[in-house]
Amino acid sequence: MEYVILGAGAAGMKAADTIRKADKEGNITVVSTDTQVHSRCMLHKYLSYERDEQHLNFADEDFFEKNRICWIPGKSAEKLDTKEKTVTLDDGKILRYDRLLIATGAESFIPPVGNLREAENVFGLRHLRDAQAIRKMAEKAENIVIIGSGLVGLDAAYGLMETGKKVSIVEMAGQILPVQLDKTGAAEYQKRFEDAGAVFYLGRKGADTVMNSEKKITALVLDNGEQLPCDMIIVAAGVRSAVAGMEGEGIVIDRGIQVNGYLQTGAPDVYAAGDVTGLSGIWPNAQKQGETAALNMCGSKVLYEDRYALKNTINFFGLVSMCVGEIIPKEGDIVIAREDSQNYKRVIIREGKVAGVILQGDISHAGIWQYLIKNQISISGIEKDIFDLNFGDFYGIKANGEYQWKTAY
Ligand SMILES: Cc1cc2nc3c(=O)[nH]c(=O)nc-3n(C[C@H](O)[C@H](O)[C@H](O)COP(=O)(O)OP(=O)(O)OC[C@H]3O[C@@H](n4cnc5c(N)ncnc54)[C@H](O)[C@@H]3O)c2cc1C
Repeated sequence: MEYVILGAGAAGMKAADTIRKADKEGNITVVSTDTQVHSRCMLHKYLSYERDEQHLNFADEDFFEKNRICWIPGKSAEKLDTKEKTVTLDDGKILRYDRLLIATGAESFIPPVGNLREAENVFGLRHLRDAQAIRKMAEKAENIVIIGSGLVGLDAAYGLMETGKKVSIVEMAGQILPVQLDKTGAAEYQKRFEDAGAVFYLGRKGADTVMNSEKKITALVLDNGEQLPCDMIIVAAGVRSAVAGMEGEGIVIDRGIQVNGYLQTGAPDVYAAGDVTGLSGIWPNAQKQGETAALNMCGSKVLYEDRYALKNTINFFGLVSMCVGEIIPKEGDIVIAREDSQNYKRVIIREGKVAGVILQGDISHAGIWQYLIKNQISISGIEKDIFDLNFGDFYGIKANGEYQWKTAY
């Protein structure tokens, strides 16, 4: 059996490992544009000089040899032929496959604003090569503008501030971390970033740029006309699935590569996993998808079940937050919040079930919330304080399959 995996990120590496465990004899080839296996979640530590390239690797150093996997680094798949079952690489090499996994992740989206796409001092932060380029230019940069205050934008800000750079962050929402946190949770991080010297421009968009003759942007112009002088810009305004060259008969590309519950595309024996599917944009889900796809490639029938259990962990300046499920309440939802000087908790309840939770500070009881959300367990009629629930409160499962709580009436 010839297994070919495109991508050596969270999904691709987990898939390679899983296939080798399930099939001791098959040939496995991993192709990656990356020349080095690395964790994207750790790139900010590279920007801050806390880790070098070598310490971004999340796999054992001898992973490929030990598992008898042929790794082709520094090459990109350019063309798929799903009828002939071949992949053509950018050096012209053609690989034949019996089972193919597309795990090509995503690319930073640079909006078509001013000269952001043309300038030589504008970067996304997705790959080690981006972080290397940012670090090099940052050596001589004083003022850095970051567009976007999601996890990637704040990662970049945090890493660069650690090296003493002056950072301005432009965010079109009225708060930072708008996808991960509510206003109260986000305000705690904003304060800590501001105390460390960051300046935020909330509710503002980049509308234009001022570029010099060396193709360097010297100022970002906001939508209110204000100009932010800068030596370089980092754009963290979202990603797009890395689907270039993945077009092929049976492969449907919408926001990402479309897959069924078994992570199969519409082309025979072609699977997709990780950020390229657009199902989720976080590391643990990419790994789970890589594992699930790999088991199915080896002949099992395993459904990908974490499909909607979105979870984010945030940690800046020693303040940890975890958010699971939905963040924005809908009409009719019940929202319960609790706050003290150290902690903030907020839960959204929809039709008697937990739709989403934010835990900030003490996240030690995160497990029960993940369980309630993932399994959509009814909490109607529970007498105990909802923030004190634990697994010991389960009584058992009723004959009709519903969960019974010890403290429910
Ligand atoms: C700065 C940053 C911080 C993050 N922090 C967190 C965090 O704290 N927690 C969290 O859960 N998630 C975090 N994420 C998201 C997480 O890193 C991703 O969800 C995860 O890496 C997705 O894994 P993947 O395997 O789908 O894609 P990737 O890890 O992007 O891997 C894609 C692979 O495909 C290769 N590739 C791409 N195109 C081709 C091609 N045409 N041919 C061959 N190979 C190709 C690439 O070289 C790469 O090896 C962060 C992401 C970034 C960028």
